[in-house]
Amino acid sequence: MSVRRGWCPTAWRPMAAGDGLLLRVRPSMGRITAEQARLIADIAALHGNGAIDLTNRAALQLRGLDEAGWRAAIDRLVAAGLVDADPARETLPLLVAPDWREGDDTHRIATALSARWAELPPLPDKFGIAIDAGQVCVLGDASADLRVERADTGALMLRADGRATGIAVPVGEEVDAILALADWFVASGGTAAGRMARHNAALPDWATGGLCPRRSTGAPADDPPSYPLPFGRIDADALTALTQRVGLAALRLTPWRTLLLEGAPAPKSDLGYLRGIDACVGAPACPQGSVATRPLATELAPLIAGTLHVSGCDKGCARRTRADVVLTGRDGRFDLALNARADAPPVVCGLTYEQVLAHFKGFPRAA
Ligand code: SF4
Repeated sequence: MSVRRGWCPTAWRPMAAGDGLLLRVRPSMGRITAEQARLIADIAALHGNGAIDLTNRAALQLRGLDEAGWRAAIDRLVAAGLVDADPARETLPLLVAPDWREGDDTHRIATALSARWAELPPLPDKFGIAIDAGQVCVLGDASADLRVERADTGALMLRADGRATGIAVPVGEEVDAILALADWFVASGGTAAGRMARHNAALPDWATGGLCPRRSTGAPADDPPSYPLPFGRIDADALTALTQRVGLAALRLTPWRTLLLEGAPAPKSDLGYLRGIDACVGAPACPQGSVATRPLATELAPLIAGTLHVSGCDKGCARRTRADVVLTGRDGRFDLALNARADAPPVVCGLTYEQVLAHFKGFPRAA
């Protein structure tokens, strides 16, 4: 076992966190059958601490394993087809629009790319590819470096992250275009930048185009029905209960902290007030965090009208975009920023938990 202390654990490369080993499962096409979901719940309960997190790249994290538990978990996950037996194939995140249908463009392109995975050059740890080829793009806020999207003309397009526009890609040539742009990224020194959006080299002419992605407007259709997970977390018992809903065939994983249910209506949830509220796992489960995050986020949620991000440190794992109110842990206290990311300069520094609550209780439902 190679224990990683940096970013991006996989199933084969668990990360040592404050609550034990953390392993990440990234199922094919972001879909797990009800039976696979029950297996994951059983592994989490038996070999971990029962906590299962849905990440903002639509992967599942199991926490609190020891080495023996990790070995048992890996064997079971590989046998169930949830983890590839080849550790190299686990390393690159492929994010798909979660409402894909069998045989549609998202499904077709992702399947073709998976078959040619070995042709990709060695890419940085956090590099990812989004296949977002439905009638409108839904993954625009999700972390990815290369994006296959639906253009506003209706054509399929390829866009390098950080660039507003991209090029048209003929049907059937999408994977060739992805491989060529990944090759260019590496050859032009992108590995040092780490991410496409931070790589300032001018794109080659063949990758420069004027197509804009067709953005989704309004709330996504509730088909398949969605089930929100507060802070992206579900425990093993709750996941097992979800799989026992009559008719449930499978779960789709999304990057926005909801599960989509295939074949069954979503159970009622009384946790809607936590929509728009993001908080990472924080201390003590994450060694980088110096504050507990989710208890404060839960207390603040009814008091804040807009979006809220409570982050254990300035890495801001739970949310990469701005939130109306941001509280970032530093040396056991909170820094407050407004309309910002977790690493933005604060407007108030060094607040205690009680001071934060007092501030917002004095200004209920206001930022
Ligand atoms: S943002 Fe949260 S989860 Fe990420 S490193 Fe900091 S404390 Fe840990």
